[in-house]
Amino acid sequence: MNKQIANGEGVIAMSQEIFSVECPCGSVLTHEEFAALVVEVQAHAKGNHNMDLTVEDIQNMASN
Ligand SMILES: [Zn+2]
Repeated sequence: MNKQIANGEGVIAMSQEIFSVECPCGSVLTHEEFAALVVEVQAHAKGNHNMDLTVEDIQNMASN
C-alpha cells in the first residue's frame, strides 16, 4: 500500500520502493529494504505468534 504525497509540485508516488507486509493479526510492517523487512517480519511473527516464517513466506505476503 503506497501512500501518495502531494507536495504542490505534483504527486510523488512510487518514486521509492517501500515494501510492506500485512500480518494476519492486522499489523502492517513496512521497510524500504526487503532484507530488513524480512528481519522485522520474522521477529514480529516469532515474538507475537511464535511462528517461524521463511523469506519465501514473506515474499508471498509482501507487496510493493
Ligand atoms: Zn502479527
